Amino acid sequence: MIHIKPFDRVNPSLVKQYYYCPVIPWIQANLMVAEPTTDSMVLGSEAVKPPTGRGQVRISTSRGATIIDEVIEEKNGKIIIEKKAFKSHNFSRYVSQAITSYVIAREKLPGVRKVRIAAGSKIVELEVNDQLVNDVEASIRSVERIISENNLPKPGEQDKCSSCWYRRFCPYV
Ligand code: SF4
Repeated sequence: MIHIKPFDRVNPSLVKQYYYCPVIPWIQANLMVAEPTTDSMVLGSEAVKPPTGRGQVRISTSRGATIIDEVIEEKNGKIIIEKKAFKSHNFSRYVSQAITSYVIAREKLPGVRKVRIAAGSKIVELEVNDQLVNDVEASIRSVERIISENNLPKPGEQDKCSSCWYRRFCPYV
C-alpha cells in the first residue's frame, strides 16, 4: 500500500505544535489534517506583515523548510526576526519555533548571530548558542521521527485536550 504524507520534512510550525502536544504532528502527518485558518490568524498575519521594501524569506534546506519574517544585517552578524501578532502565556513555544527556523536555514543563511522574537509589544532577542540549539535539536529530531514513522507518540499534558482543535482526530480522546 502506498502511504502518502503531506510533508516529509520538519517546519517550525510542526515543532511549535510538538511543544503543545507530540500527538499533533503525528495527526498532521498521518491523517493529513491541519487546523483551518481562523479570523484571528488572518488578523495576526496582517498585523505582522513586513514594512514596505522588506519581505519574508522562504528557505528550503536538507533539514526542512521555513519562512522567516525578516532578516536584518548588523555589523556583528545577521538577525532572524520572528513576528507574532499576540503575546503568548507559553513564550517558549515561540522560542522553539524561531530556533527551529535558524537550524533549518543556517546551511543556506550563514552568519546568523541572533534571533529576535517580537510578540505584540514584547520583544526578546536571543544570542544563538550551542545550548539553545541543542535543546531545540532534540525536539526537531523527535518531530522528524514522528512524521517519518507511523508509531503513535505519547501525549503531552492531557489537561490541554479540552481546548485542542485536533481532539476530534486524536486516538487518545
Ligand atoms: S486531544 Fe489531547 S492528546 Fe490529542 S492531540 Fe490534542 S492535546 Fe494531544
